[in-house]
Amino acid sequence: MTGRTPGPLVILGATGSIGASALEVAAELGDRVEVVGLSCNRGWRELAALAARWRPRAVAVADEGAWREARAAAAFPDGIAVLGGGAGVAELAAMDGVDVVLNGIVGAAGLEATLAALGAGKRVALANKESLVVGGELVEAAAGGDMLASGRVLPVDSEHNAIWQLLERRRSDEVRRIVLTASGGPFRRTPADRLAAVTAAEALSHPTWDMGPKITIDSATLANKGLEIIEAHHLFGLPYDRIDVTVHPQSIVHGLVEWKDGTLFAELGKPDMKLPIRSALAWPERAEEPGPDLADLGELTFESPDLERFPALAIARAAGEAGGTAPAVFNAANEVAVALFLDGRIGFLDIPALCARVLDAHEPRAADSLAMLMEVDRWARAEALAAQPASSSR
Ligand code: MG
Repeated sequence: MTGRTPGPLVILGATGSIGASALEVAAELGDRVEVVGLSCNRGWRELAALAARWRPRAVAVADEGAWREARAAAAFPDGIAVLGGGAGVAELAAMDGVDVVLNGIVGAAGLEATLAALGAGKRVALANKESLVVGGELVEAAAGGDMLASGRVLPVDSEHNAIWQLLERRRSDEVRRIVLTASGGPFRRTPADRLAAVTAAEALSHPTWDMGPKITIDSATLANKGLEIIEAHHLFGLPYDRIDVTVHPQSIVHGLVEWKDGTLFAELGKPDMKLPIRSALAWPERAEEPGPDLADLGELTFESPDLERFPALAIARAAGEAGGTAPAVFNAANEVAVALFLDGRIGFLDIPALCARVLDAHEPRAADSLAMLMEVDRWARAEALAAQPASSSR
């Protein structure tokens, strides 16, 4: 990879799926990139192995219990600062001398680090969509002005990265709409009457993308695409009625822009997170990599999403349109519902039902501080746990 070489890099969520892809891209850069910080949630043993290889200045373990274990085990090489808890991750994200913070944290937990990094003047390569879903207004304020034009926020979510590349140096008043593609997940063809009984194992086998468990379940319910609609609203400053979704099972086209004259632009690539990560880290230049052989891409098809079988998409869009604290509530209820489903405690269709129930019980307010959003997040999690069906639907 040539193109611009990022300055000192921090990778948050280094032991997850995004982290692994980011470290592969860093390995391509070899001596030209310095990885100065790495974080994990609970997986400190895996983080220690990464620290031994990459020799960062500091690491952070988000889960406090895991942090204590790691310190008791003296898991990290001498000379590496071992930070802990959400505050430790935020401190890592704001560390002196850092150029880019790649945020690959899963869930609302990523917001604090995004705000800390932007507040300290860093650029954020953002894979944590929840930063914008939960705290879109706060992130916009922290990034100051046009976060994309200034390069303060570099979109890594594949669909948003595609649309960002398509929009570059064009005026937003030339855009009629943008279109996010969805694979449709493993249940694209599953009849409605079978969905209640599908298992976590079935939901975890994604047809095209190899990702972590939370986002894989979100892909199966289409909640992921709902979160991405809200993410796109904040990134591109477009109203919700100009952000569409199409189901594209091959996951080759990641995003489209329809200009006001009806011309449609699409970005194509293999489903591989290294592509968006590479483009974000090389920005505003381009890395040097061959594209796919067109004959390998096969047939490309598009269809409308089925909102009856996959109601999470419409629930998320409505939460986005309601604005304020509603997207944070949707996200928190969904995080809890996905964990309950993975535990076998609720059925697949209970995931959107639980989100709708918690949103119904919430009166949206303006989202004006991180503390207030975290309070709303805690409320929605408790509400979702209390509202879970007494007996599993399976
Ligand atoms: Mg995506």
